[in-house]
Amino acid sequence: MPYDYQSKRPDRKYEHPNHEMAMVELYRMTGNRRYLDFAAHTLDCYKFWSFPEVWGHCVQENLLLCGGADVYLEIGKSEMLQHLHAMWTDITERKAYLTGGVGDGSPFESYGAAYSLPNEKNYCETCAAISKVFFDERMLLATGKAKYADDMERTFYNAALSGVSLKGTEYFYENPMEINIGGKDQGKHGRRNERKPYFNCSCCAPNLLRLLGSLQQYLFTASPDGVQAQLYGCAELKTRLDSGAMAHLRETTDYPLSGSVQFEILADGKYDLSLRIPQWTEGTKVGIAINGKPGPNAKAGGYAKISKVWKAGDKVILEFDMKPRLITGREWVGGEKGKLALMRGPLVYCLESPDNEQIDIFNLRLTSNCTFTEEPTKDLGGAVRLNGQAWDEARKNAVQVSAIPYHLWANRGASSMRIWVPAREQTLTGE
Ligand SMILES: [Zn+2]
Repeated sequence: MPYDYQSKRPDRKYEHPNHEMAMVELYRMTGNRRYLDFAAHTLDCYKFWSFPEVWGHCVQENLLLCGGADVYLEIGKSEMLQHLHAMWTDITERKAYLTGGVGDGSPFESYGAAYSLPNEKNYCETCAAISKVFFDERMLLATGKAKYADDMERTFYNAALSGVSLKGTEYFYENPMEINIGGKDQGKHGRRNERKPYFNCSCCAPNLLRLLGSLQQYLFTASPDGVQAQLYGCAELKTRLDSGAMAHLRETTDYPLSGSVQFEILADGKYDLSLRIPQWTEGTKVGIAINGKPGPNAKAGGYAKISKVWKAGDKVILEFDMKPRLITGREWVGGEKGKLALMRGPLVYCLESPDNEQIDIFNLRLTSNCTFTEEPTKDLGGAVRLNGQAWDEARKNAVQVSAIPYHLWANRGASSMRIWVPAREQTLTGE
């Protein structure tokens, strides 16, 4: 059963934690230790360091974890990091959806029981995804490990970005994993398949603007003698490293539309350029070329490190294979058992009714040998639509289906949508 944090956690009578992060920032700005001690004291009052698992309101919990990570980043006790990692693992392995979203529809917008994750009633507040990105970033800064950037990428492109419409003027508070307009779709903040320009509780929309407006800070990290590309996007980076080297480069890409990322070195300098190789590339070929010659081996879930005396004009090209892939649901997760989902690069795909008007997407079955071809959309900003076949359980035959990136659903009026589709053991031709 999900925890009822109102009754079981009387020691946590706080609203959205934020001041822990603010106090640590004040300490960083002023050097006055009292601010850091105050943040650490607050966490002790919450008994933060002995929480057995994440619980309670998802946004509050995630923001508190951010405060905990900030305090760790300044104090540096190893048991603190162990605890933060345990909480991060509890979220990502047991309480997060494929999109990276959290909040399974339990009361009080809270974390639910491990592995429950129902698709038809999930909450996945936009702010919960955004605060999870904040926590991922802090864990990345604390450890330098790629898995935290992987989760940051997954959560940003799917659970957070779905919170805003293609035009950028309408927002979701809740981000359903599945919705059938034939059924009940009224959520806590209005219809769950229509973004709105404004909510009385004005948290998600401004939070999204904050995230998108500060996106540049998530692209790169730096260590004393190198820079690490974490999220891929168009950028120019110019930073003086502790080693004294000036890292100055330009990054050009349309990722994740395509899997091609180019770096052009703009100034001479000796430093390491590390490229994150996302976990989702496992089993695919990742190409790295330095001035046209093969680069270092790329292992999924880590970094390809290029140590070099760079000359202005040097070029590095990174190529990811964006072939669509079917994701098998985890047998021990309620909403995923016996189901398949579609991904391309870091993007989770969904089946939405406007692309599949002749069929009922809730009658569909996918098979493990379903293949999909790519088509640029005209109606969804050039995003890649995937076309293929699925089994129609009502018609008892194979039918054409199309899927779009999940974050782009609900841009063409109220619709039905699903991410996880039941798997059919037999292939489409009945073998
Ligand atoms: Zn919100």
